[in-house]
Amino acid sequence: MLPADGSVSLESILFTEELKRRPSRSPDYETENRALTALVQALANSPGTILQTLADTILEVFQAGSAGLSLLTKDGQRFYWPAIAGGWKPHVGGGTPREFGPCGDVLDCDGPLLFKRWDLRYPYLQAATPLAEEGLLIPFYVGGKAVGTIWAISHDDDRTFDSEDLRLLESLGRFASAAYQAVELQKAREAELAALRLMENAVQSGHLAETHNVKLREEITERKRAEVKLRESEERFRTLFDLSSVAVYSIDASGVIQNFNLRAAELWGQSPAVGDTDQLFCGAYKLYRPDGTFMPHDRCPMATVASGEIAEARDAEVLIERADGSRITVIVNIRPLKNDRGEITGAINCFYDITERKQAETALRESEEFNRSIIESSPDCIKVLDLQGTLLSMQSGQELLGISDIRPFLNKSWIELWDRADQPAVRTAVQGAAAGEDTNFVAFFRTFDGRPKWWDVTITPILDAQGRPARLLAISRDVTRRHEQAEALRESEARFRTLFNGVPIAIYSTDAAGTVQEFNPVAVALWGREPQRGDPAEKYCASYRIYLPDGSYLPHDQTPVVAVLSGQVPAVRDAEVIIERPDGSRITISANIVPLKNDAGEITGVMNCFYDITDRKRGEIALREAQTQLTDRAGHLEWLVTERTAETTATSKQLETFVYSIAHDLRAPLRSMQGFSRMLMEDAGTTLSETGRDFADRINNSAQFMDALLLDLLAFSRVAQEQIKLTPVHLETVVQSVLSRLEKEIQEKNGCLKGTGPWPSVLGHEPALGQVIFNLVSNALKFVRPDVPPCIRVYAEEQGRFVRVWVEDNGIGIAPDHQAQIFGLFTRLHGSNFPGTGIGLAIVEKSVERMGGNAGVESTPGEGSRFWFNVPKAGQN
Ligand code: ADP
Repeated sequence: MLPADGSVSLESILFTEELKRRPSRSPDYETENRALTALVQALANSPGTILQTLADTILEVFQAGSAGLSLLTKDGQRFYWPAIAGGWKPHVGGGTPREFGPCGDVLDCDGPLLFKRWDLRYPYLQAATPLAEEGLLIPFYVGGKAVGTIWAISHDDDRTFDSEDLRLLESLGRFASAAYQAVELQKAREAELAALRLMENAVQSGHLAETHNVKLREEITERKRAEVKLRESEERFRTLFDLSSVAVYSIDASGVIQNFNLRAAELWGQSPAVGDTDQLFCGAYKLYRPDGTFMPHDRCPMATVASGEIAEARDAEVLIERADGSRITVIVNIRPLKNDRGEITGAINCFYDITERKQAETALRESEEFNRSIIESSPDCIKVLDLQGTLLSMQSGQELLGISDIRPFLNKSWIELWDRADQPAVRTAVQGAAAGEDTNFVAFFRTFDGRPKWWDVTITPILDAQGRPARLLAISRDVTRRHEQAEALRESEARFRTLFNGVPIAIYSTDAAGTVQEFNPVAVALWGREPQRGDPAEKYCASYRIYLPDGSYLPHDQTPVVAVLSGQVPAVRDAEVIIERPDGSRITISANIVPLKNDAGEITGVMNCFYDITDRKRGEIALREAQTQLTDRAGHLEWLVTERTAETTATSKQLETFVYSIAHDLRAPLRSMQGFSRMLMEDAGTTLSETGRDFADRINNSAQFMDALLLDLLAFSRVAQEQIKLTPVHLETVVQSVLSRLEKEIQEKNGCLKGTGPWPSVLGHEPALGQVIFNLVSNALKFVRPDVPPCIRVYAEEQGRFVRVWVEDNGIGIAPDHQAQIFGLFTRLHGSNFPGTGIGLAIVEKSVERMGGNAGVESTPGEGSRFWFNVPKAGQN
């Protein structure tokens, strides 16, 4: 039976260490308590089946394939299996040799062992079917001596054991040992007593010869001594039972307490007198329900089980109040005790204290809620970096960044996460902080789910014990709103200023005292002089002199400006006055004056728009424009912002539509050019001179190039405009179809082209993905080094929420300075040497952007390029 040399070693089937490494569950006290209750009940009702109950209980608790016990035979040569539950049940009574088997191994090392596929080492176990995938074994002790093992077996990969399984198995094992000992003792005592009785009867009957009597008497004395020993031993067992961590007590059918252990008394805070008819159903002082309401003893779960009202109580929560007023929460498991006829003769209750766990749970819940509320309310994303800018950890802000899992970003460069254009600034800030300074920068960064954001980042060095920077703390605050508002304000201010300076009417403003503040060039032209801004001498108006239409002189402090400024009139419209310039010339103007007010509604100055009505017609038009534009725009910041966004969207849409229709319409005349030049060459070819044919040829080539250009432009504007729907796409299919389209070309060039999996599924637009990969591979095939056959590889890898597809070539490469530009429209670096329109990569970039991704390149001139693009992974929201 022993295997031949070179057999599988013990180490190679042992995985006990793995128990610790596997993610463990938190201790499941409910299950443990239920299992113990089952064992206690078996002990009370049918002690002979305690081992089988143990096997059944382990099977149920563990949801394992099989469970059972092995006990050493008397001669110590073998283990036999007295009780088995589950798949191995038919093997009851079987066993394994002591010297060469898993049970022997457990006894040898006197501790738990986890086996995998033990049949590889112990071939005889191949007969024990179903085969064991994993087996968890612990020693079974009787009287402190390991006399067997207790085990749980899984028959497939689905169930693997962990450290919580081991804890449960050990707890059940401890109890089973005590119970088994008790049962064995009981059996021994009964046998002993029966023997004693027989002997005493024999002696008393006087039928025996005297010599026999002497002998028997001696033996009786001897056995009585043994009986005392047994009683002592039973006493020891009772102590063991008493020391159990689970509280146990039983009652009879009328509720009188029969037995209880020390732990029960401890939890009750008192020891009721056994058999006391005043203390029924429970030994506790007072009982309450989990909701805090009072529970009379005769309504407690024990009473309802004993009366048959409920079959049993499982994991019921009860509050015990002790005589000293302290309260604890316990979980009770109660089963009825029945006689042979199935009548209820009482009930048995196992209960245990969960007060601390409850308190811990509440505290944990509160502290988790507190932490969550802090993190959720924190507008910052806090990161720890090393001195080189590698991201070591991130405290909050996953939400802010639009990622669900930070792990893929850890231990990678944080600097390189930023837009390429911002990386130098980020790097400088990191270096500054690494040198011990606090640094700060504001930069743009699109979140991983595509939201454009501005970040205000502060980097602070964390110092070590010697005061040297050891780590960096980077706190990024989302300042998108602030940034957008400031931007809008700046733009609006600039717009307003342009408007102010550009409108064809004169405008000026004063402060509350009437001092002239802002004025535009038209005002200067109409005044015929340029006042000093803010000069207190320039009151109400900068005109040299003012007259009423009837020609009478009007002092400055009586002009309509003063009436509006003082609040006498709300505003002035079309007030006609004549102004005289320093050179003596006069013009008639129409003034429109409105007050400027602060938030509190106080007048802080006026704005006067006036124009020359010497030529009324022109003046009227200007006034209409000025009125609508000025009154609407001044102070209406938000309106400007909305208008701006609407405008840009409209412009880029218009542009794309424009490009599309131009490209489309131009193709018709172009086709005529191609057609006619071809006819010219074919039909009139012989009559044409050499030069004539050359010209026709050139016309045709140019037309062909232009057609290619227009086709590309059409494709580009289609990519930019068309509605696309993103669906899960199998990359492999797309890549294979592109590769087969280019197969001929690659053969002609003697090159190699391969796509290597795995290919994760992506969320995209299949035709667009095909176009992108086709463009990249075509370029790789085009920009090859002279005499170096192209070698191109397409593959993909997962990067956080994205799948990154790489197209790698060994071509001419791209100089670092140019790498950022080549995705722009019409950018071509290698102009006349290679055909092309400079649109292919623009299409690539636009397409992947439309699918929610981005694209880029890494390249070494003279060695090759690696183009990549990111598209979202399929199957995520
Ligand atoms: P086209 O190929 O029509 O010129 P693209 O937009 O596809 O236009 O490419 C733009 C430019 O980028 C190319 O002209 C070339 O200079 C450079 N380029 C593109 N792909 C590669 C490559 N695989 N190797 C070297 N240079 C490349």
